[in-house]
Amino acid sequence: MSSEMNVIRDAILSGKATAKDYTGLPLPQSMLAVTTHKDEVRMFDGLESDEKDPRRSLHLDEVAIPEVGPNEALVAVMASSINFNTVWSAIFEPIPTFQFLERAAKRSPWDKRHDLPYHIIGSDGAGVILRVGPGVTLFKPGDEVTIHCNYVDMQAPDGHDDSMLDPDQRIWGFETNFGGLAEVALVRANQLMPKPPHLTWEEAASMPLVNSTAYRMLVSHNGTQIKQGNIVLIWGAVGGLGGFALQYVLNAGAFPICVVSSPEKVKLCETIGARWVIDRGAEGYRFWSADGSQNVGELRRFGKKIRELTEGEDPDVVYEHPGHETFAASVFVARPGGSIVTCASTSGYNHEYDNRYLWMNKKRIIGSHFANYREAWEANRLVGKRALHPLLSEIYPLTEAGEAAYRVHHNLQIGKIGVLCLAPGDGLGVRDDEGRSRHIGQINLYRNAAKGEFRLVKTQP
Ligand code: NDP
Repeated sequence: MSSEMNVIRDAILSGKATAKDYTGLPLPQSMLAVTTHKDEVRMFDGLESDEKDPRRSLHLDEVAIPEVGPNEALVAVMASSINFNTVWSAIFEPIPTFQFLERAAKRSPWDKRHDLPYHIIGSDGAGVILRVGPGVTLFKPGDEVTIHCNYVDMQAPDGHDDSMLDPDQRIWGFETNFGGLAEVALVRANQLMPKPPHLTWEEAASMPLVNSTAYRMLVSHNGTQIKQGNIVLIWGAVGGLGGFALQYVLNAGAFPICVVSSPEKVKLCETIGARWVIDRGAEGYRFWSADGSQNVGELRRFGKKIRELTEGEDPDVVYEHPGHETFAASVFVARPGGSIVTCASTSGYNHEYDNRYLWMNKKRIIGSHFANYREAWEANRLVGKRALHPLLSEIYPLTEAGEAAYRVHHNLQIGKIGVLCLAPGDGLGVRDDEGRSRHIGQINLYRNAAKGEFRLVKTQP
């Protein structure tokens, strides 16, 4: 770490530096960042997805800090996190992200900065603003922030009802350069949100992407707007997306049916408050036969299991993201008039399902992608109000981002994996100790990655 970066880090750790102090601190020329390399995008050719190892493709490089442009901010990143899009970037699937950077560069001279032989990835972050560009009014240097990943400048009319519909909408740190897995990140000002002061840096950094996505899918009018009494089937209920979905469903007075893959995860769902949990590992569902045809008997077995739990009811909403392997089951089990809300296809994006179950029963499929600023802000606000808490099980240093991404790729973590960037250790950044201690009925799950054990802390009123 450069001496200038050390000074910045000390100012943040002191918790006392003012906006003027930050503006006066010299910016380093360069920083450490996790990158993929353009000349390596073919390195995994011929391998199956599972065999593509992020530990080989992710590098820790010393790279230049970009110039801050209009309506932008440079943020000293204390922590970031691994998302599944970190994995997609690292294994160059479904396409190498450099194609996004090249396309974006055609837009304007400022966008050209992103088109480099390396891609700094990472779509989450929490830290402190170092500089703002011309035109930034809501935030200033010294503000402690979380960063959401909806990268949009709102010039096209299409996005003004919902910025996710803007034709130039991109995901920061995936479809743009200068993402969160670095000592300093470059963001648009409309990605910034106040960091909930009762959270540590790594907790705050672990949530913006998955929390905002879950909010849109389940709470927003752009999603399913779940309400009291709804039954919501959640695939991967203590994964990144699922960990927030489960809390939104419980908060709404709705009933989650959690699907997870181990007894340890079953126990965690129950600890969080779920009454109905299915261990898909123990049940061994095979929705697809060896010849690739749909196994209707297995769909029925899954539906029957759900009805046993719910005393005969079917889900109003199915929260979908595994894709190919589960989508037919999701369509099958949703109740007549129910919805399947989907934001991903981890196991394959060519979905096949029997459409009779959909049209004859008037079910709806709702496509959803990340969240607009309003939705991300509301999701962040709810964490600030202590209505939700990030589910964070492991923390890695920036030097081991490849290992952390490997674990997410192979479904080895629970909830999210945090990554420490400038933060010298975990547990730092809490500015509201009292608020933290008043944390009611929420869960702080923390897995010590080195020891591989859980410390489950349920805070009391
Ligand atoms: P995680 O890996 O953290 O969690 C996914 C969970 O899904 C796992 O914990 C696992 O739970 C379950 N799962 C995985 N594979 C299968 C399968 N074949 N069948 C059933 N369940 C499965 O990932 P995230 O929750 O962060 O992301 C999930 C997907 O959503 C990714 O593809 C990601 O890229 C995408 N995504 C899309 C967003 C968008 O805006 N469009 C935003 C965020 C994520 P278990 O093993 O316990 O059942």
